[in-house]
Amino acid sequence: MKKHNFNAGPSILPREVIEKTAQAILDYNGSGLSLMEISHRAKDFQPVVDEAVALFKELLNIPEGYSVLFLGGGASLEFCMVPYNFLEKKAAYLNTGTWAKKAIKEAKAFGEVVEVASSAADNFTYIPKGYTVPADADYFHVTTNNTIYGTELHEDLDSPVPMIADMSSDIFSRPVDISKYICIYGGAQKNLAPAGVTFVIVKNDAVGKVSRYIPTMLNYQTHIDGGSMFNTPPVVPIYAALQTLRWLKAQGGVEEMARRAKERADMLYAEIDRNRLFRGTVTDKGDRSYMNICFVMKDEYKDLEADFLKFATERGMVGIKGHRSVGGFRASCYNALPKESVQALIGCMQEFEKAH
Ligand SMILES: *Cc1c(COP(=O)(O)O)cnc(C)c1O
Repeated sequence: MKKHNFNAGPSILPREVIEKTAQAILDYNGSGLSLMEISHRAKDFQPVVDEAVALFKELLNIPEGYSVLFLGGGASLEFCMVPYNFLEKKAAYLNTGTWAKKAIKEAKAFGEVVEVASSAADNFTYIPKGYTVPADADYFHVTTNNTIYGTELHEDLDSPVPMIADMSSDIFSRPVDISKYICIYGGAQKNLAPAGVTFVIVKNDAVGKVSRYIPTMLNYQTHIDGGSMFNTPPVVPIYAALQTLRWLKAQGGVEEMARRAKERADMLYAEIDRNRLFRGTVTDKGDRSYMNICFVMKDEYKDLEADFLKFATERGMVGIKGHRSVGGFRASCYNALPKESVQALIGCMQEFEKAH
């Protein structure tokens, strides 16, 4: 049976990315050695990093003066590296969910944190608006896509101070005005590569302004200077990321990804709104994520939830169980997810509706 992969992360990757990475693991460039057996400083690996950096810059239209880094530690380590490197006195954070909360918690260890707004009281079912970012903050941190709650900022905000963003789950799904940010980071395992590599886009001249000592490995300057080679980088995930970046470019880049994301999301949200059994969980429809589409059974059909999960699973749907903090269902529709998978899920919802 064909599987439709709606996993939230690690998640679907283009088939050719998996095949090319598998091939390189067996025999890297005809060398008779595996990609896992060669030095990261070997002359055939450096071009992988160089091309991945170049494609990042090209696909996201990154201006001069920024570095692209491939690090370890996940987005979760960036929650601490960001304030370590950028928070001198005060930072502003928008609280839009679990990941934002974790970022806020880490920042509090380094200075004053102003939570400019929060939708916690409503279980993060919308993205707050109409707040003020203090003009004397060192930066304003946002989570552009809230993977768990299914809300998303579809456009870059305006801010009186430079922005920093966790883009773990929506990177390369839309064009971004990089010049508004001094740092953008994310774990690669949602839209880019297998788990194990973290991408960081950092503005070079924003680094080095805090007065504290920063441990070498946590200092962005170390990795800017080292070209992501200060220590051994995650070689296999970087190789896979390069294959995804090539695929992205061949498919038409972020504009095309944005078009596909909206097309998939429009189809699925239309069914959620139409279907008698289901409802979306995000209250402000403009905030609905194109990447993580959350829905539940309407109150009067709540007891059918387990049945629908079983029904859909039997028809090849994978990973649609909602996160425990929201319940119901979550269909993650990342870049590599074909429209046909969304159509298959919609088919399940319609068939289930007819049967009940
Ligand atoms: C998955 C996710 C994280 C956590 O990433 P790790 O790489 O596991 O640390 C952080 N932020 C967002 C928005 C995520 O989706």
